Amino acid sequence: MNKRRVSKTIQVGGVSIGGDAPVRVQSMTKTDTRNVAATIDQIRVLEDCGCEIIRCAVPDMEAARALKEIKRGISIPLIADIHFDYQLALAALESGVDGLRLNPGNISDPDKVAAVVRAARERQVPIRIGVNFGSLPADLDPRLSVPEQMAEAALRHIRILENLDFDLIKVSLKAFDVPTTVQAYQEIASRIPYPLHIGITESGTPRQGMVRSAVGLGILLYEGLGDTLRVSLTGDPRDEVYAAYEILKSLRLRERGPSLVRCPSCGRTEVDLVSLATSVEKYLAGIQKSVKVAVMGCVVNGPGEARDADIGIACGKGKAVIFRKGQPVRTVDEADVLSELMREIEQF
Ligand code: SF4
Repeated sequence: MNKRRVSKTIQVGGVSIGGDAPVRVQSMTKTDTRNVAATIDQIRVLEDCGCEIIRCAVPDMEAARALKEIKRGISIPLIADIHFDYQLALAALESGVDGLRLNPGNISDPDKVAAVVRAARERQVPIRIGVNFGSLPADLDPRLSVPEQMAEAALRHIRILENLDFDLIKVSLKAFDVPTTVQAYQEIASRIPYPLHIGITESGTPRQGMVRSAVGLGILLYEGLGDTLRVSLTGDPRDEVYAAYEILKSLRLRERGPSLVRCPSCGRTEVDLVSLATSVEKYLAGIQKSVKVAVMGCVVNGPGEARDADIGIACGKGKAVIFRKGQPVRTVDEADVLSELMREIEQF
């Protein structure tokens, strides 16, 4: 795995991004921001899942003002997602948000951009520039590849902020297509010092989106690119947070909660492995501590993986061996496997 790209550190509320800070997990609310109670409820649920920064869409002034009350009801930093309207950005800052997602080049009047930047600087609130493949400016050099165009579009916005002496910047370059996204981040990574927010946009339903995001974000993170990420999925935003941590855990970049190693089961399996593993997964969902648990279906490959986990079981015909930190501790009957495994995990 490549060494992580060195980037400037910025603060979004109490959360640092870039530099040596852990790669941060973000999500976005799916509620109507004007519905304060529903938005706070959703954010609290996401906080419990490990979401570290939350973004809310700000379609109008009522939503911008609602952010004030939302901010009071949550513990994690709040980012306002603004398009075009500088007054919404000013109102969101007035409401006390910790970050803005805003492309300054989309605001045509330089005085209005300057007003937003002045207000953000006063409050030390960073601005994320977010370029999406679907909304590239028409006047980019057609000889450039699409990833190069995306980087160029981001640089235009960045230069506007830099010319106003503002450097609390974070940058994202998202596309649905994984190679395009990866190449766009590669393109810009060495040209700016700012932290990168990574994501695959419109990645889709949980099944499709998790795979696309795991591939795209996995490549970027393996290359050392990415300081914060969002897995964009259609559906429950808890899945976004869950998937983000699974991606980070799989690259050993973050630890959170249990990891479950389970064999896929095959013709050698002599127990009902699918229902056993599903029950174990449900049980582990309620545990915060980092613990690696292996549920293996046979004595061929099972003991190896079971030994490698903190707690493991390797099943045989009507029986299972329980391992703790690589050592077999006892053999239990199939009927007792789940309860005995849970007991071991609790003791661990
Ligand atoms: Fe099959 Fe055993 Fe591998 Fe599970 S661990 S898939 S039962 S060979």
